[in-house]
Amino acid sequence: MQTLVVEHPLVAHKLTMLRSEATEAPTFRRLADELVTLLAYEAMREMRVRPVTVTTPLGPAAGVKLAGPVPLVVPVLRAGIGMLDGISRLLPTADVGFVGMVRDEESLVASTYADRLPADLSGREVFVLDPMLATGGTLQTVIGMLTDRGVAAVTAICLLSAPEGVSRLESAFPDDDPVRIRVVTAAMDERLNDRGYILPGLGDAGDRLFGRI
Ligand code: URA
Repeated sequence: MQTLVVEHPLVAHKLTMLRSEATEAPTFRRLADELVTLLAYEAMREMRVRPVTVTTPLGPAAGVKLAGPVPLVVPVLRAGIGMLDGISRLLPTADVGFVGMVRDEESLVASTYADRLPADLSGREVFVLDPMLATGGTLQTVIGMLTDRGVAAVTAICLLSAPEGVSRLESAFPDDDPVRIRVVTAAMDERLNDRGYILPGLGDAGDRLFGRI
């Protein structure tokens, strides 16, 4: 598994504002949306293309189009929904599947409550949206669901990551795994606290996007 921490002044600026407890939900949603677009741009750098020729008003021009099959975007409910518009802006033709995961706040173990993924993902490239890579339990489960269905490559786009979660994914999906697995994130934070929250983090991403339920 590979991890890319995107280093860019705009990413760092927006992430700093996102972290601040003074940032209220409407601004938080807009910043998260903008950050996802920037991260997705980096995450798509290695997408497969095929050569095409188009005709400009002055004649033929060689170019490329994204190669098939169409990618799949998978927001992890609920917080991943706040990241969907940010990637759809770049990849409007992608299919969208959904996985719902909820974390038991005592055991910190995540369980699946919704699985709306195609049964066959042979050869597909998948972008998973989960704002917080904390213990890594959620992403390990979701990536496992995708590899079981034959994906070619999985890229998880996370606003923030913790070293504990990255280590867990590296153990679960070693480098010799036939499926290419990557994490693209805006920052690698210090550690998790005893409740599984990322420090210094930004708090509960779902609550900050959509309110406490
Ligand atoms: N989920 C969150 O929303 N925040 C964290 O810090 C960890 C998991």
